[in-house]
Amino acid sequence: SKAISIQNLSKKYAGGKQALDDVSFDVAQGSIFGLLGPNGAGKSTLINILAGLVMKTSGSASIWGFDIDVNPRNAKASIGIVPQEIMFDPFFTPKEALELQAGLYGVPKAKRKTMELLRAVRLEDKADAYARTLSGGMKRRLLVAKAMVHSPPVIVLDEPTAGVDIELRQQLWDYVVQLNREGVTVVLTTHYLEEAEQLCDRIAIINHGKLIANKPTKELVGMA
Ligand code: ADP
Ligand code: ADP
Repeated sequence: SKAISIQNLSKKYAGGKQALDDVSFDVAQGSIFGLLGPNGAGKSTLINILAGLVMKTSGSASIWGFDIDVNPRNAKASIGIVPQEIMFDPFFTPKEALELQAGLYGVPKAKRKTMELLRAVRLEDKADAYARTLSGGMKRRLLVAKAMVHSPPVIVLDEPTAGVDIELRQQLWDYVVQLNREGVTVVLTTHYLEEAEQLCDRIAIINHGKLIANKPTKELVGMA
């Protein structure tokens, strides 16, 4: 019943910065979970540890029951990460980018899956355009589609609406909510309480690497 379980997780960078300090929390399957905190709080570090991009210093983390150290491949296969930085080849088209990703994960019926995802994120008209010609919001939606290519049960979005205008933000949220209705567990980081309030069932707040709250959204908002 736990989509993600994080126990006593700490990260101290080589430079000496303690980015995470003894953080523990669980994300329930089927929920939309918000990780809130100001810039520099440690949110990206936490996500990068789940993504396998940053090595933790101590503690443990599991995704869909798979420990990231013991079963890293199964853990990775259970999660789709939408990174904060937009990065893909500017001369790849959305269709090519998704087909390539599908190939990496050995997804069956890659072409059909690609078209399905392009429709879902409303990029079917841009299927054959160079990624460099897409707007910021379109690129972000392409990243969401890319994270969903292997149909993971959990998707994590790191500051998904940074630099996205209000209309595109709404389209992104509509898609995320739709995924959640279809059973996908969603974790998102944001530094906007308002955004987390609207979307999340539960919100954890992190500051200076420490977890300072973890409550159902209603209780948290009641306190403010
Ligand atoms: P290291 O793991 O040795 O710190 P990095 O290449 O990650 O190696 O970073 C080198 C140095 O650059 C770090 O020690 C840190 O001082 C600084 N640094 C890198 N990324 C960041 C960041 N996102 N925020 C603050 N400082 C950073
Ligand atoms: P957030 O995503 O909440 O803005 P981060 O996880 O990016 O926070 O950063 C947490 C802290 O760790 C910050 O003080 C940041 O400068 C530092 N940091 C991030 N990456 C590195 C790095 N590679 N090396 C050294 N310090 C880093």
